[in-house]
Amino acid sequence: VPEPDDGPRPTPQEVLQRVWGYDAFRGDQAEIIDTLVAGGDALVLMPTGGGKSLCYQVPSLVRPGTGIVVSPLIALMQDQVDALSALGVRAGFLNSTQQPHERRAVEQAFLDSELDLLYLAPERLRVPDTVDLLDQGRIALFAIDEAHCVSQWGHDFRPDYLQLSMVHERWPDVPRIALTATATAATHAEIASRLQLEDAKHFVASFDRPNIQYRIAPKDNPRAQLVDLLRSEHPGDAGIVYCLSRASVEQTADHLVAAGIPALPYHAGLDRQVRARNQARFLREDGLVMVATIAFGMGIDKPDVRFVAHLDLPKSVEGYYQETGRAGRDGLPSTAWLAYGLADVVQQRRMIDTSDGDAAHRRRLTQHLDAMLALCETVTCRRVQLLNYFGQSGEPCGNCDTCLTPPESWDGTVAAQKLLSTIVRLDQRNQRYGVGHLVDILRGKTTPRVQQLGHATLSTFGVGTDLSDGEWRGVVRQLLAMELLAVDTDGYGTLRLSPLSSEVLRGDREVRLRREPERTGRSRGGSSG
Ligand code: ADP
Ligand code: ZN
Repeated sequence: VPEPDDGPRPTPQEVLQRVWGYDAFRGDQAEIIDTLVAGGDALVLMPTGGGKSLCYQVPSLVRPGTGIVVSPLIALMQDQVDALSALGVRAGFLNSTQQPHERRAVEQAFLDSELDLLYLAPERLRVPDTVDLLDQGRIALFAIDEAHCVSQWGHDFRPDYLQLSMVHERWPDVPRIALTATATAATHAEIASRLQLEDAKHFVASFDRPNIQYRIAPKDNPRAQLVDLLRSEHPGDAGIVYCLSRASVEQTADHLVAAGIPALPYHAGLDRQVRARNQARFLREDGLVMVATIAFGMGIDKPDVRFVAHLDLPKSVEGYYQETGRAGRDGLPSTAWLAYGLADVVQQRRMIDTSDGDAAHRRRLTQHLDAMLALCETVTCRRVQLLNYFGQSGEPCGNCDTCLTPPESWDGTVAAQKLLSTIVRLDQRNQRYGVGHLVDILRGKTTPRVQQLGHATLSTFGVGTDLSDGEWRGVVRQLLAMELLAVDTDGYGTLRLSPLSSEVLRGDREVRLRREPERTGRSRGGSSG
């Protein structure tokens, strides 16, 4: 019996105008949609804000049956369904947060061909009842959102994604589309193979976000720097501030509120209801600042996020790109600002050294961190560096801090040798120290500690008066970033030689360093330097 659905179907263009009120498709949208409407598969790499949702929503309305959207973002399903319902699209979801009667109502609607879109958490597809249900209805397509979650090497890995290839085995004739906003060449290949999308049409959009201004500033009392930034450039704007720890999230949110900036905390340690309420307020109210761990943000569709600030160093370029990508989805000028200092490098190197997992795992974490550090220390365009990381090319952008105020580089070989040979001499006495004491020695300061330890007699005592404390900290930070220097795992941030240090000490390696920008006003010598 032919279903009523089999009548004449609207075209994608008609759906776009009638349902969304938009005039034209953007970028690859039209071609992606045509591929699915014609029954083909697609793998879509498109940056945040590029318009991925329409790529599966429109063909779900054009093709007979229901579009099944697999998404890990359970917390957002209600919002997504509400937004679609407001447009007159018949949408529902099935996940663990529902009451049995709610679930049954959605299932019945699906069976009665009354749903255009059905959102599912990936773990639902492991439940035989769900698979039986899908078998009894009519499926327009499968959309696998946040497809990078299938990558075991990535930062968002979800084991339930691994079994999504079953979709293809079970329903080989149903077109599939996998979408992600984050993919290096390696992740891209992994998505294609794990989801059996090698034969799909691949659409790779430019990862450039021209309206985002990338800036990485030396960390020097980051909360005060943040307040300065928000007051001077983003008064009244909505934005996201990322911190590494829950404690730091709470303290930073309090700090902003005390400074008269409306801010809310978000982290996994907060009560579920508090989290949901803060997220809802951030989405609905104007000019709120969300201070959060990286637990916040995936799938958040708030077009007017004017800035994303990182008070701690992200662990990878993928993470940095994804988090900063939440700024400026409406295409208007936005700021991505990161405060980065010596302590970040020390902390993350140590976290990797003491992390669980085998040597290969630690090596991978180190590669991720090294790429992030290279982005921080680059003297060339940050955007070009970002694009290169994702295998794309670009021209110096004129809209990042290194383009706007090009940093000078200088030959830091001799400075590096002075520092490293001080460490060698202390090593000979079986002594190890952190950056503060080493800089005191190099700058020839007769502190009580220097006197007590007799370090004024070291041959390198006072050989570094040509550089300021801040410049020396910059040398240490950059040597750590380049792995020409290492941090002990003792937890005190003491410094030691790395396997590469000897190349510098022997004079076999030139060390080019980024000149530290002049610091203005604020207190110097903080431990965050
Ligand atoms: P992504 O999922 O890739 O981050 P979205 O699908 O959320 O991006 O789209 C980002 C914004 O752009 C949304 O507000 C969406 O409505 C809008 N948008 C997408 N495609 C178009 C289009 N063709 N014309 C106008 N606006 C669009
Ligand atoms: Zn640039």
